[in-house]
Amino acid sequence: MRIKFIAGNWKMNRTPAEAAALIDAILPLIKDAQCDAAMCVPAVDLHAARERLRSSKVMLGAQNMHWADQGAYTGELSAAMIKEAGASCVILGHSERRQYFAETDETVSKKTKAALAWGLLPIVCVGESREERLSGQTAPVVTRQTRAALDGLSSGQVSGLVIAYEPVWAIGTGLVATDEQANETIGVIRGVIRDMFSGAADSTRILYGGSMNASNAAGLLSQPEIDGGLIGGASLKAADFAAIVNAAGVSRG
Ligand code: PEP
Repeated sequence: MRIKFIAGNWKMNRTPAEAAALIDAILPLIKDAQCDAAMCVPAVDLHAARERLRSSKVMLGAQNMHWADQGAYTGELSAAMIKEAGASCVILGHSERRQYFAETDETVSKKTKAALAWGLLPIVCVGESREERLSGQTAPVVTRQTRAALDGLSSGQVSGLVIAYEPVWAIGTGLVATDEQANETIGVIRGVIRDMFSGAADSTRILYGGSMNASNAAGLLSQPEIDGGLIGGASLKAADFAAIVNAAGVSRG
């Protein structure tokens, strides 16, 4: 059985003081959560967020990191830095990083290896653009991205990490994939993992992300292949994020 996992991606929103206030608003609403939960905050918020999350089971995450342990990479953060600041998980290869910051399959692969080496849980994002979906390229695109990200890992590493299927056309647009579309593509991704690592595929958690909210979460989370959600906009609203986390508990299977 895979325990459902709901991770918030705050993107470039909330200062440290605002982060503390948001966490204080969310925690009482999810105190009975039956699923795993994480908040992936801006790096400068990690310290304040760690203090607030200290007595809860909610994981703290970052949204990016460099693959090198240290060096002349102005403006970048290493795995050791985000870990010491309080992160235990990290989003890698988000489509906004691929689109605006030249992230590639190759850099996602290097970052995934570095995160695992430092004991961080990677949340590796894959997903097709609108044009790719319309031209029937969804399966080949997510297959290529998944293969590239997982190449060279052990099956033990793959069974413990998290993949987020995030169709680019659904992120921040209000256009959500249908329950069936999301379930089908996550099935494709699980098939790739089965092909590469056989039994690990049954343990790897694969989330859906893209305009998931308090109203559509229950339907998506009841699909057999969908092990949780990566939540952008709705993770910034305490009641909405809590509703999704609590829906995941109900649909735990
Ligand atoms: C995301 O950025 O990972 C995301 C899923 O955003 P949203 O929920 O706002 O579409």
